[in-house]
Formats: sequence, structure tokens, C-alpha cells
Amino acid sequence: MLFGVADFVPPLMEYVRRYHAKLVFNSNLVKVDGNKKIAYFENKGNDGTVTLEAKPFDMLHVTPSQVAPDFLRNSPLADAGGFCKVNEKTLQHTDYPNVFSLGDACSSPNTKTATAARKQIVVVAENLLAAKEDRELTAFYDGYGACPLTVENGKVILAEFGFGGKLLPTFPLDPTVPRKLNWFLKTTVFPWIYWNGMLKGKEWFACPGKLR
Ligand SMILES: Cc1cc2nc3c(=O)[nH]c(=O)nc-3n(C[C@H](O)[C@H](O)[C@H](O)COP(=O)(O)OP(=O)(O)OC[C@H]3O[C@@H](n4cnc5c(N)ncnc54)[C@H](O)[C@@H]3O)c2cc1C
Repeated sequence: MLFGVADFVPPLMEYVRRYHAKLVFNSNLVKVDGNKKIAYFENKGNDGTVTLEAKPFDMLHVTPSQVAPDFLRNSPLADAGGFCKVNEKTLQHTDYPNVFSLGDACSSPNTKTATAARKQIVVVAENLLAAKEDRELTAFYDGYGACPLTVENGKVILAEFGFGGKLLPTFPLDPTVPRKLNWFLKTTVFPWIYWNGMLKGKEWFACPGKLR
């Protein structure tokens, strides 16, 4: 699938058409010959057969698979996929109540982004204090994550959504529309929040939901 949340697929497909981009699914990059500029892909056919394809490239943009680090994957904290096994709402470990997890290493089924970690931090902080003081855990995470999708120079679709693909836009605007405002947020506002807020442990806007 082009994007995991259905509402954002039509505007993205519009750009795929406009750029004459060719979408190829079920194709996995397995080797790169940097000197010859050739990338090798394993392609999976409908009947399950796998074939190796060599493609020349001018520029290659690769993202690695999302996996948990070995020290976590090989520990009792991990779920079957290797991530730290938490309750997706409270972010408390399901077997070890004195353990909480957030960010890319945790098993919560949200998009693994810094924007998600930013919302998870406040939930973990509140629930950790509650657990320490033997209080009920009331702060919950709604699965929020945001992907600023740059679709053209000067325009970004700000895809904000939670568990189950529920749209969670910050602003009262149609979130599927590419906007200059989102470009400004991505290039100017978000870096400022990152450097001056997140990395210094300050948070002005994210607050956790309450279970009751
Ligand atoms: C190319 C790319 C683009 C991205 N763009 C965006 C974006 O635009 N917006 C967005 O919100 N998110 C984006 N992300 C995702 C974002 O970077 C991650 O979700 C975020 O960094 C997760 O934070 P984290 O603290 O959970 O993990 P990390 O940032 O991975 O931090 C984990 C740290 O643990 C350290 N570590 C690992 N093993 C050990 C060990 N054994 N002992 C001690 N330390 C250890 C690592 O070195 C690392 O510093 C992007 C990611 C990539 C790869």
C-alpha cells in the first residue's frame, strides 16, 4: 500500500500521476553495487515465486527495515516481533509493571516517528509517577503520529493520525490538502520545537488523554 491511512492515498496518488512515478510493491532491496550503480531487488510474484532483478540507478534513496535492537530483541522484555511489549494505551510493560517503553523500541502499533515519541513521553511520565506511588494509571496514548509528506517544493501534506487510521489533525483544516502552511511548519516551526523543546526536556503542547 502506498500509505497506511486510506484518506491520504488519493492526494498522494495525484502526485504519483503528476510525476509519472512508477509504484512497485512486493519488491525488496537486497544488495547494492555502489561502484557500478546497480541495485538488486527480490521481487515476489502473485504465485509466491521470488526473482532477482538488477536495476541501474543515478540516485538511490534507501530506508532500512524497522527492527528492534538486538539487546532488546533477545531479552524477556520483547514481544514476538522483538519490540518492548507494552499496553498500547498506558505504555506499561504487560509482564513487568515497573517497566515502561516509548519510541521506536516499543511495541505500540503506531507509526514509529519522533512525533509519536513526543506524545508518548508525557503519558509515560505521568503513568510512571502513578505506578511509583501505587496509584491507578490514568494517562493514555491515542496512537498519535504525524508524517509531514513533502509532495512538491513549498507544499506538504501533514498526515496526523492515531490508532486505526483515525485522523487527528491539529488544525481545523482538511488534512489531506497539500499546504504552504505545512511547509512552514516542517521547515521552520518543527525544527525549533525539536531543538529548543524536545531535546531540552520541555513540552508546551502535548498532554496525555485520561482513561477516566
Ligand atoms: C530517514 C528518517 C527520517 C525520519 N523523519 C522523521 C520525521 O520527519 N518526523 C518524525 O517525527 N520522525 C522521523 N523519523 C523517525 C524518528 O527519527 C524516530 O522515530 C525517533 O528518532 C525515535 O526516537 P527514539 O528515541 O525512540 O529512538 P532513537 O532516536 O533511535 O534513539 C535510540 C538511541 O539508543 C541508542 N542505543 C542503541 N542501542 C544501545 C545500547 N545497547 N546502549 C545504549 N544506547 C543504545 C542509539 O544509538 C540511539 O541513540 C525519521 C527516521 C528516519 C530513519
